[in-house]
Amino acid sequence: MKITIFWHRRDLRFDDNAGLAAALQRDEPVLPFFLYDKTILDKLPPDDARLTFLFDQVERLAHEAREAGGGLLARHDTVLNAFKQLLHDYDLAAVYTNEDYEPYATERDAAVARLLGQHGVDFQTFKDQVIFAKDEVLTKNGKPHKVFGAYSNAWQARLQPEQDFKAHPSTRLFKKENLASPHPGDAGRPTLKDLGFGRHEQYTGPAGLPPAEVVRHYDQTRDTPALEHGTTRLSVHLRFGTVSIRAVLKQANELNKKLLNEIIWRDFFMMLLWHFPHTATEAYDPKMRHLPYRHAPAEYQAWCEGRTGVPLVDAGMRQLNQTGYIHNRARIVAAGFLVKHLFIDWTLGEHYFSEKLLDYDMSNNVGNWQWMAGTGAVAAPWFRVYSPVSQQKQYDPDFAYIKKWVPEYGTASYSAPLVDLKEGRVRAIEAIRKGRR
Ligand SMILES: Cc1cc2nc3c(=O)[nH]c(=O)nc-3n(C[C@H](O)[C@H](O)[C@H](O)COP(=O)(O)OP(=O)(O)OC[C@H]3O[C@@H](n4cnc5c(N)ncnc54)[C@H](O)[C@@H]3O)c2cc1C
Repeated sequence: MKITIFWHRRDLRFDDNAGLAAALQRDEPVLPFFLYDKTILDKLPPDDARLTFLFDQVERLAHEAREAGGGLLARHDTVLNAFKQLLHDYDLAAVYTNEDYEPYATERDAAVARLLGQHGVDFQTFKDQVIFAKDEVLTKNGKPHKVFGAYSNAWQARLQPEQDFKAHPSTRLFKKENLASPHPGDAGRPTLKDLGFGRHEQYTGPAGLPPAEVVRHYDQTRDTPALEHGTTRLSVHLRFGTVSIRAVLKQANELNKKLLNEIIWRDFFMMLLWHFPHTATEAYDPKMRHLPYRHAPAEYQAWCEGRTGVPLVDAGMRQLNQTGYIHNRARIVAAGFLVKHLFIDWTLGEHYFSEKLLDYDMSNNVGNWQWMAGTGAVAAPWFRVYSPVSQQKQYDPDFAYIKKWVPEYGTASYSAPLVDLKEGRVRAIEAIRKGRR
């Protein structure tokens, strides 16, 4: 029997799923598929908590597929091997999936499309994880936007909520007569242990839309890191697609325009990474590619461990190390301190975040790090330096966040700052001024 495979990647849900809805409208039954990609997994440490989250979500999908009268196939392999094996094991009419804009993913998908094409199997990709992708929002001259404000205005001018936030009918179509199951004998899925990982759970916030109360007050609470529910905690769910971006933005559009605007940053950074994939590892601004960053391994290590002697930086880094999450305000302060006051290469900070963040997302992480370093496409002046002291006074005036994560703050055992903040600031500005080409 011919089947269509629906390949889940950053969209670990059956509801409001663009590519899945399209697959379910074909004639053949659909087999949901998840690949634990060895190329990605082999680079991760065995205690990586993201694998526990990912694994649990795949198992949840498998359970939901079974309940609906079908099944989910999961394998652990490299991508091309996996698809060669699928071509051998199943009679494939088509493979459908949702677009992924990261450089590795675009190359991977091109290779899969070639392989399937050689076997006469239709490979189709769909926009699902953003509202506007690639070239959909451009300047009047047809170029990618580099100023966020202008992008956000153009994005909102283009928006037709009735159409752009409309849910895809995957839930309605996800029923027995449209679903296939793995062959008997092929239904076993890899366990976390088979994948080479241990179980490490961390708090991710509940899946689904944030409570309306949180969204309603978001503009007033989002910048207070001490507040437990001051932000939505959507990031990990948007990263893995356990919630639909359309549902999230529909709610934000109705309840809080500030939140809408923040999430537009996500479309913006994904658009930039797709247009400029090389910015994953080097400065967008060519003038900023040869800055004389300091080689200071001990200071870098102290930053990673939250031992810089600058309380808001240390609080943020300890929150990150202990929970896999860091509040946006603390991300800004910790990143700014590394790239400006310590004048250490932003790629090192980006890399550390990429290993620790449960919500790690290449486009958001790279985009924000380059923004903090002043090296990115966004018109952020390179001479802007956030003062950790002013930031603390403004956003953690009672030291509530700091005391939570740095209990020894204010005692003799808390270390002195690694660098005099004023001297560090001047040193960075001078070095960048001279180093820009
Ligand atoms: C140096 C640095 C690195 C970052 N790395 C990441 C990352 O790897 N993954 C990630 O998802 N976010 C990243 N961010 C953006 C932001 O800090 C997080 O999205 C946010 O803190 C997640 O918590 P939340 O979902 O409660 O946010 P909320 O404030 O509730 O925001 C809701 C959603 O809006 C989007 N959003 C909010 N702010 C931004 C922003 N500045 N840029 C892009 N999208 C945004 C996110 O999808 C977020 O989940 C980074 C920011 C900085 C300064």
